Amino acid sequence: MSSFTHAKDIALSFDDGLNPQQNPKAALINQQILTQLNEQQIKSIVFPSLIKIGDYQGKQLIANWGKDGHIIGNHSALHQNLNKDTVSTKHYIQAIIDADTILNTLPNYQRIYRYPFLKQGNTTEKRDAVYLWLNQNHYKIGAVSIDASDWFYNRKYLDYAKQADTAKLERLKQAYITHLLDRASYYDQLAVHTLQRSPKHVLLLHVNQINAAFLADMITAFEQADWTFVSAKQAFQDPLYMQHSQNIPAGESIIWSIAKTQGQALRYPAEDAPYELDNLKLHQLD
Ligand SMILES: [Zn+2]
Repeated sequence: MSSFTHAKDIALSFDDGLNPQQNPKAALINQQILTQLNEQQIKSIVFPSLIKIGDYQGKQLIANWGKDGHIIGNHSALHQNLNKDTVSTKHYIQAIIDADTILNTLPNYQRIYRYPFLKQGNTTEKRDAVYLWLNQNHYKIGAVSIDASDWFYNRKYLDYAKQADTAKLERLKQAYITHLLDRASYYDQLAVHTLQRSPKHVLLLHVNQINAAFLADMITAFEQADWTFVSAKQAFQDPLYMQHSQNIPAGESIIWSIAKTQGQALRYPAEDAPYELDNLKLHQLD
Protein backbone atom coordinates (compact mmCIF):
# COMPACT_ATOMS: atom_id res chain seq x y z
CA MET A 1 0.00 0.00 0.00
CA SER A 2 1.40 3.40 -0.89
CA SER A 3 1.56 6.15 1.68
CA PHE A 4 -0.92 8.13 -0.36
CA THR A 5 -3.75 5.67 0.08
CA HIS A 6 -5.78 5.41 3.25
CA ALA A 7 -8.33 2.91 4.47
CA LYS A 8 -11.74 3.87 3.19
CA ASP A 9 -14.59 2.10 4.96
CA ILE A 10 -18.21 2.32 3.92
CA ALA A 11 -21.53 0.99 5.20
CA LEU A 12 -24.83 0.91 3.32
CA SER A 13 -28.13 2.29 4.57
CA PHE A 14 -31.51 2.07 2.85
CA ASP A 15 -34.37 4.50 3.48
CA ASP A 16 -38.15 4.51 3.25
CA GLY A 17 -39.19 0.96 2.26
CA LEU A 18 -41.96 0.05 -0.18
CA ASN A 19 -45.70 -0.53 -0.01
CA PRO A 20 -46.84 -3.71 -1.87
CA GLN A 21 -50.34 -2.22 -2.17
CA GLN A 22 -48.96 0.66 -4.23
CA ASN A 23 -46.04 -1.02 -5.97
CA PRO A 24 -46.65 -4.52 -7.36
CA LYS A 25 -42.88 -5.06 -7.53
CA ALA A 26 -42.30 -4.14 -3.89
CA ALA A 27 -41.69 -7.67 -2.63
CA LEU A 28 -39.40 -8.48 -5.58
CA ILE A 29 -37.33 -5.29 -5.20
CA ASN A 30 -37.03 -5.85 -1.45
CA GLN A 31 -35.91 -9.43 -1.93
CA GLN A 32 -33.43 -8.63 -4.71
CA ILE A 33 -31.69 -6.08 -2.49
CA LEU A 34 -31.60 -8.50 0.45
CA THR A 35 -30.26 -11.31 -1.74
CA GLN A 36 -27.41 -9.15 -3.07
CA LEU A 37 -26.50 -7.96 0.43
CA ASN A 38 -26.53 -11.56 1.61
CA GLU A 39 -24.35 -12.75 -1.28
CA GLN A 40 -21.83 -10.00 -0.54
CA GLN A 41 -22.10 -10.69 3.21
CA ILE A 42 -22.86 -7.06 3.97
CA LYS A 43 -24.94 -6.12 7.01
CA SER A 44 -26.72 -2.83 6.53
CA ILE A 45 -29.53 -0.83 8.11
CA VAL A 46 -32.99 0.00 6.80
CA PHE A 47 -34.91 3.11 7.89
CA PRO A 48 -38.62 2.55 7.15
CA SER A 49 -41.20 5.32 7.23
CA LEU A 50 -44.76 4.13 7.91
CA ILE A 51 -46.28 6.33 5.22
CA LYS A 52 -43.96 4.70 2.67
CA ILE A 53 -44.52 1.06 3.68
CA GLY A 54 -48.26 1.10 4.39
CA ASP A 55 -49.84 -1.55 6.55
CA TYR A 56 -49.20 -5.20 7.21
CA GLN A 57 -47.54 -6.31 3.95
CA GLY A 58 -44.99 -3.52 3.85
CA LYS A 59 -44.16 -4.19 7.46
CA GLN A 60 -43.49 -7.84 6.61
CA LEU A 61 -40.98 -6.76 3.94
CA ILE A 62 -39.16 -4.65 6.53
CA ALA A 63 -39.26 -7.56 8.98
CA ASN A 64 -37.24 -9.57 6.43
CA TRP A 65 -34.36 -7.12 6.83
CA GLY A 66 -34.26 -7.80 10.56
CA LYS A 67 -34.47 -11.56 10.01
CA ASP A 68 -31.46 -11.33 7.67
CA GLY A 69 -29.41 -9.60 10.36
CA HIS A 70 -29.75 -6.00 9.19
CA ILE A 71 -30.69 -3.31 11.69
CA ILE A 72 -34.15 -1.75 11.43
CA GLY A 73 -34.18 1.92 12.41
CA ASN A 74 -36.87 4.63 12.59
CA HIS A 75 -37.61 7.11 9.78
CA SER A 76 -40.87 8.42 11.33
CA ALA A 77 -44.50 7.74 10.51
CA LEU A 78 -45.09 10.69 8.17
CA HIS A 79 -41.77 11.43 6.43
CA GLN A 80 -42.02 15.15 7.17
CA ASN A 81 -39.47 17.83 6.34
CA LEU A 82 -38.52 19.48 9.66
CA ASN A 83 -37.26 22.53 7.79
CA LYS A 84 -40.78 23.45 6.70
CA ASP A 85 -42.61 26.12 8.70
CA THR A 86 -45.78 24.04 8.54
CA VAL A 87 -44.12 21.16 10.45
CA SER A 88 -44.27 21.75 14.20
CA THR A 89 -41.94 20.13 16.72
CA LYS A 90 -44.87 18.57 18.55
CA HIS A 91 -46.32 16.84 15.50
CA TYR A 92 -42.88 15.87 14.29
CA ILE A 93 -42.01 14.11 17.56
CA GLN A 94 -45.41 12.40 17.63
CA ALA A 95 -44.60 10.87 14.22
CA ILE A 96 -41.37 9.41 15.63
CA ILE A 97 -43.32 7.90 18.54
CA ASP A 98 -45.98 6.49 16.18
CA ALA A 99 -43.33 4.77 14.06
CA ASP A 100 -41.63 3.35 17.13
CA THR A 101 -44.91 1.85 18.35
CA ILE A 102 -45.31 -0.10 15.10
CA LEU A 103 -41.66 -0.91 14.35
CA ASN A 104 -40.50 -1.99 17.80
CA THR A 105 -42.18 -5.38 17.33
CA LEU A 106 -39.88 -6.18 14.38
CA PRO A 107 -36.69 -8.26 14.72
CA ASN A 108 -33.49 -6.24 15.23
CA TYR A 109 -35.30 -2.91 15.59
CA GLN A 110 -33.15 -0.30 17.30
CA ARG A 111 -33.77 3.26 18.33
CA ILE A 112 -31.71 4.88 15.61
CA TYR A 113 -33.45 7.81 13.98
CA ARG A 114 -32.89 9.09 10.46
CA TYR A 115 -34.35 12.50 9.63
CA PRO A 116 -36.43 12.46 6.41
CA PHE A 117 -34.66 14.45 3.65
CA LEU A 118 -31.76 14.76 6.17
CA LYS A 119 -33.45 17.98 7.32
CA GLN A 120 -32.90 18.69 11.01
CA GLY A 121 -34.73 21.97 11.51
CA ASN A 122 -34.98 25.51 10.14
CA THR A 123 -34.84 27.18 13.56
CA THR A 124 -32.61 26.56 16.58
CA GLU A 125 -35.73 25.91 18.67
CA LYS A 126 -36.96 23.10 16.43
CA ARG A 127 -33.48 21.66 15.89
CA ASP A 128 -32.66 21.59 19.60
CA ALA A 129 -36.09 20.41 20.78
CA VAL A 130 -36.00 17.34 18.53
CA TYR A 131 -32.35 16.60 19.46
CA LEU A 132 -33.21 16.83 23.14
CA TRP A 133 -36.23 14.58 22.77
CA LEU A 134 -34.26 11.97 20.81
CA ASN A 135 -31.52 12.05 23.42
CA GLN A 136 -33.91 11.75 26.36
CA ASN A 137 -35.62 8.81 24.67
CA HIS A 138 -32.35 6.98 24.04
CA TYR A 139 -32.27 7.39 20.30
CA LYS A 140 -29.05 7.55 18.35
CA ILE A 141 -29.03 9.63 15.20
CA GLY A 142 -28.62 7.60 12.02
CA ALA A 143 -26.67 10.27 10.20
CA VAL A 144 -25.35 9.95 6.67
CA SER A 145 -21.76 10.80 5.76
CA ILE A 146 -22.18 10.26 2.00
CA ASP A 147 -25.32 11.85 0.62
CA ALA A 148 -26.28 10.96 -2.95
CA SER A 149 -29.21 11.09 -5.35
CA ASP A 150 -30.16 7.46 -6.00
CA TRP A 151 -33.82 8.58 -6.06
CA PHE A 152 -33.05 10.73 -9.12
CA TYR A 153 -31.34 7.87 -10.98
CA ASN A 154 -34.19 5.58 -9.96
CA ARG A 155 -36.68 7.85 -11.75
CA LYS A 156 -34.59 7.52 -14.90
CA TYR A 157 -34.40 3.77 -14.40
CA LEU A 158 -38.19 3.54 -14.25
CA ASP A 159 -38.53 5.64 -17.44
CA TYR A 160 -36.05 3.56 -19.44
CA ALA A 161 -37.44 0.28 -18.09
CA LYS A 162 -40.91 1.35 -19.23
CA GLN A 163 -39.49 2.03 -22.71
CA ALA A 164 -37.65 -1.33 -22.51
CA ASP A 165 -34.54 0.58 -23.62
CA THR A 166 -31.77 -1.81 -22.61
CA ALA A 167 -29.00 0.32 -24.14
CA LYS A 168 -30.06 3.29 -22.03
CA LEU A 169 -30.38 1.11 -18.94
CA GLU A 170 -26.81 -0.10 -19.43
CA ARG A 171 -25.54 3.47 -19.79
CA LEU A 172 -27.60 4.44 -16.76
CA LYS A 173 -25.86 1.75 -14.73
CA GLN A 174 -22.51 3.33 -15.57
CA ALA A 175 -23.82 6.84 -14.88
CA TYR A 176 -25.27 5.72 -11.54
CA ILE A 177 -22.09 3.98 -10.40
CA THR A 178 -20.03 6.99 -11.52
CA HIS A 179 -22.31 9.24 -9.47
CA LEU A 180 -22.05 7.12 -6.31
CA LEU A 181 -18.26 6.78 -6.56
CA ASP A 182 -17.97 10.51 -7.19
CA ARG A 183 -20.09 11.41 -4.16
CA ALA A 184 -18.21 8.91 -1.96
CA SER A 185 -14.90 10.37 -3.04
CA TYR A 186 -16.13 13.95 -2.55
CA TYR A 187 -17.40 13.37 1.00
CA ASP A 188 -14.28 11.38 1.93
CA GLN A 189 -12.04 14.24 0.77
CA LEU A 190 -14.26 16.73 2.61
CA ALA A 191 -13.86 14.56 5.74
CA VAL A 192 -10.08 14.39 5.43
CA HIS A 193 -10.02 18.15 5.00
CA THR A 194 -12.48 18.82 7.83
CA LEU A 195 -11.81 16.04 10.38
CA GLN A 196 -8.23 15.27 9.33
CA ARG A 197 -9.21 11.64 8.91
CA SER A 198 -11.30 9.26 6.83
CA PRO A 199 -14.21 8.11 9.01
CA LYS A 200 -16.29 4.98 8.64
CA HIS A 201 -18.75 6.22 6.06
CA VAL A 202 -22.49 5.64 5.81
CA LEU A 203 -23.98 5.93 2.31
CA LEU A 204 -27.60 6.95 1.80
CA LEU A 205 -29.58 4.71 -0.56
CA HIS A 206 -33.26 3.83 -0.82
CA VAL A 207 -35.20 0.59 -1.16
CA ASN A 208 -35.88 1.08 -4.86
CA GLN A 209 -35.66 -0.54 -8.25
CA ILE A 210 -32.30 0.82 -9.39
CA ASN A 211 -30.61 -0.64 -6.34
CA ALA A 212 -32.43 -3.94 -6.84
CA ALA A 213 -31.00 -3.96 -10.38
CA PHE A 214 -27.46 -2.66 -9.84
CA LEU A 215 -26.45 -3.18 -6.21
CA ALA A 216 -24.02 -6.05 -6.82
CA ASP A 217 -22.31 -4.14 -9.65
CA MET A 218 -22.11 -1.06 -7.49
CA ILE A 219 -20.51 -3.02 -4.64
CA THR A 220 -17.93 -4.49 -7.03
CA ALA A 221 -17.10 -1.05 -8.41
CA PHE A 222 -16.56 0.32 -4.90
CA GLU A 223 -14.28 -2.58 -3.99
CA GLN A 224 -12.29 -1.98 -7.16
CA ALA A 225 -11.92 1.65 -6.08
CA ASP A 226 -10.37 0.48 -2.77
CA TRP A 227 -13.44 0.86 -0.59
CA THR A 228 -14.03 -1.76 2.10
CA PHE A 229 -17.57 -2.60 3.18
CA VAL A 230 -18.25 -2.63 6.90
CA SER A 231 -21.51 -3.25 8.73
CA ALA A 232 -23.81 -0.34 9.57
CA LYS A 233 -23.34 -1.28 13.22
CA GLN A 234 -19.56 -0.87 12.93
CA ALA A 235 -19.88 2.40 11.04
CA PHE A 236 -22.21 4.00 13.56
CA GLN A 237 -19.66 3.33 16.31
CA ASP A 238 -17.44 5.97 14.69
CA PRO A 239 -17.50 9.06 16.98
CA LEU A 240 -18.38 11.14 13.91
CA TYR A 241 -22.01 10.04 14.35
CA MET A 242 -22.19 11.45 17.89
CA GLN A 243 -21.90 14.98 16.51
CA HIS A 244 -24.87 17.28 16.07
CA SER A 245 -25.51 19.80 13.35
CA GLN A 246 -24.72 23.31 14.57
CA ASN A 247 -26.13 25.06 11.49
CA ILE A 248 -29.42 26.65 10.56
CA PRO A 249 -30.92 25.19 8.48
CA ALA A 250 -29.60 22.02 10.16
CA GLY A 251 -28.94 18.71 8.47
CA GLU A 252 -27.49 17.27 5.24
CA SER A 253 -24.50 14.90 5.43
CA ILE A 254 -22.82 15.05 8.86
CA ILE A 255 -19.50 15.81 7.16
CA TRP A 256 -21.08 18.56 5.07
CA SER A 257 -22.63 19.95 8.25
CA ILE A 258 -19.32 20.07 10.16
CA ALA A 259 -17.55 21.63 7.17
CA LYS A 260 -20.31 24.26 6.98
CA THR A 261 -19.90 25.06 10.68
CA GLN A 262 -16.18 25.52 10.03
CA GLY A 263 -17.08 28.15 7.46
CA GLN A 264 -16.36 26.27 4.26
CA ALA A 265 -18.22 27.40 1.16
CA LEU A 266 -20.59 24.60 0.15
CA ARG A 267 -23.56 24.33 -2.18
CA TYR A 268 -27.06 24.02 -0.70
CA PRO A 269 -28.85 21.71 -0.70
CA ALA A 270 -25.85 19.40 -0.70
CA GLU A 271 -27.39 17.05 -3.26
CA ASP A 272 -30.20 17.71 -5.71
CA ALA A 273 -31.49 16.67 -9.12
CA PRO A 274 -30.12 19.60 -11.20
CA TYR A 275 -26.55 18.70 -10.20
CA GLU A 276 -26.95 15.38 -12.04
CA LEU A 277 -27.81 16.72 -15.50
CA ASP A 278 -24.17 16.95 -16.64
CA ASN A 279 -23.50 13.37 -15.62
CA LEU A 280 -26.52 12.22 -17.63
CA LYS A 281 -25.27 14.12 -20.68
CA LEU A 282 -21.82 12.63 -20.27
CA HIS A 283 -23.42 9.18 -20.50
CA GLN A 284 -25.62 10.19 -23.46
CA LEU A 285 -28.78 10.13 -21.43
CA ASP A 286 -31.52 12.69 -20.90
ZN1 LIG B 1 -36.78 9.04 3.38
